[in-house]
Amino acid sequence: MAYSTKRRFMAGAVCPRCSTMDSIVVFNLDGKDFRECVNCDFKEEMRLNIATGELQTRVNHHEEESQAVQVINIIPDKSN
Ligand SMILES: [Zn+2]
Repeated sequence: MAYSTKRRFMAGAVCPRCSTMDSIVVFNLDGKDFRECVNCDFKEEMRLNIATGELQTRVNHHEEESQAVQVINIIPDKSN
């Protein structure tokens, strides 16, 4: 869930239908993220983009954790 249920304007976003700048609002509805144009009838679910972002974040966290564990194991060996 990336956005709240409150509609927020997306700065610099251009509507793909009417090409109006700063007319796109993003909001969450029933656990799904949507973007909607306030100038025309454009409305789209953003499910694909959100899923990709979550996967990338999880991978990065795992890499950082495994590196930290390796450093901790190496230091006691050198001091002995
Ligand atoms: Zn529009």
